[in-house]
Amino acid sequence: MRVLTIFNLKNILVLISIFSINVSFSQKKDFTLVLDAGHGGHDSGAVGFSINEKDVNLSLVLKIGALIERNHKDIKVIYTRKTDEFIPLMTRADIANRNKADLFISIHCNANARSSAYGTETYVLGAHRNQDNFNVAKRENEVILLEKDYQTKYEGFNPSSPESIIGLTLMQSVHLENSLKIATYIEENFRKENRLSRGVKQLGLVVLVYTAMPSVLVEAGFISNYQEGRYLNSEDGQNTIAKNIYKAFLSYKKEYDKKSGGDELNPEVVEEKEKPLENIRLKVQFLASFNKYSLNSAQLRGMKDVEIIKANGKYVYYAGNTNLKSEGDNILKIAKEAGFTDAMIVEFKEKEYLSEEYFTIELLLSPKKYREKDAVFKGLNNVVRERYSNGYVYTSGKVTNYESARRLLENIKKLGFSDAIISRVPNP
Ligand SMILES: [Zn+2]
Repeated sequence: MRVLTIFNLKNILVLISIFSINVSFSQKKDFTLVLDAGHGGHDSGAVGFSINEKDVNLSLVLKIGALIERNHKDIKVIYTRKTDEFIPLMTRADIANRNKADLFISIHCNANARSSAYGTETYVLGAHRNQDNFNVAKRENEVILLEKDYQTKYEGFNPSSPESIIGLTLMQSVHLENSLKIATYIEENFRKENRLSRGVKQLGLVVLVYTAMPSVLVEAGFISNYQEGRYLNSEDGQNTIAKNIYKAFLSYKKEYDKKSGGDELNPEVVEEKEKPLENIRLKVQFLASFNKYSLNSAQLRGMKDVEIIKANGKYVYYAGNTNLKSEGDNILKIAKEAGFTDAMIVEFKEKEYLSEEYFTIELLLSPKKYREKDAVFKGLNNVVRERYSNGYVYTSGKVTNYESARRLLENIKKLGFSDAIISRVPNP
C-alpha cells in the first residue's frame, strides 16, 4: 500500500485558522445540532433483508430530530437530508460547518458478510487500528467514488487506503474529548436497552474529517443480521434507538451547558419526569348505556381497569385511573383503537364537593322486593329501594365527594357486594 499525502500543508493551515476563529467566537446561547442520515438517493448504503440502510438512517434521524424539536425549543436541529436524496460526504460536513454547528451526529447501519454479527458501535475520528474496523471505513467512505468530481474535492483521498486518513485526523483532534463523550453516552444508552454494544471506536471516516465540531458516526445495528435487521426496520425498534440517542444527547447537552454557563435543560420537559396532576384522576369515558355489563363482557371490548358509575339512570363506563396526562392520552388511544370513537378523557376532582348531587352505592338490581332487614343486605343500614325497569334497585350510603364514594365502595365490596358501583344522584 502506498502512503498518500492527501492534504498539502497549506490546506491544513488554512483550515486550522478558519477553525480557530470559529472556536474563539463560539459564545452562542443556542445550540445547533446537525443530524446526518447516512447515504441516500442512488447510494443505498448497506443492503439487508429487503431493507436499505439509507431508509433506516433517514427514519432514525427524523425520529431523533422530532424528539429534540418537541422538547427543546432552544436547540436548532439541522438535517443534512430529510428525503431520499444523494448528498456528497463533503457537503454534509459543509452544512455543519456553514451553520456553525455545536455537534454533528451521523446515523448509519452496519453490515457484515458474517450474518451472525450484531450490535452497535459509535465512531469518532482516528486512525484505523485494525482490519475489522477498516472494513467499516471502506464501506462508509467509498461513497465518494459515487461523486463525480471526488478526485479534486477530496484531493486524491483513497477510501481503500488506511494511511490515507492519518494526516487528516489532526483537524478533529481538538474535538476528540467531546466526541468521545457523546459517543460513550450513546453506547451506554444502547447497553441499558440490553443491546450488545461493540463499543466506541476510532476510525478514519471522511464525513467526520471535514467537520469542525465534535462529531460521531453511529452504526445503530447490523442490517445484515436477520433479527437485528428486523429490529432496525420496525417502528418499535426505531423509536427505541431514537430515544437512546436522544437521551445520550441530553446528557451531553447538560454538560455542555454547565461548561458554557448557559441554561440547564429544564428537567420538566424530559419525558420521564412528567409532573403528576394534583387532586385529579384522569379516566377515559368510553361507553354509556342503560345496560349494566359485567367487567368481562364482550361489550367492553377488552378495556382494562374499568369503573362503572351510574349517572342520570345510565351506566357510564370508564377505563384507567391515572394522574399522568401521558397515560391518559395512552388509554384514550387504546379506547379509540378498540372502536370507541367517541371516547374522551374525563377529570375526576377527587375532593370536590358536589352541591347539586350526591354519591351513593348501588348494591344490586333485582326483580325481587327485599326489605332492609333481609339477609341479602348483610346487616347494611340505610338501604334504599327504588323501582327500576322491571324490578328494583337497591342503594346505600350518601357522601359528597368522589374520594369518599370510592372508600365507601371498597368497604361495601368487602362485605361481598362484588358488583356494587358508585351512583351519582341529584339532590332532592
Ligand atoms: Zn452507512
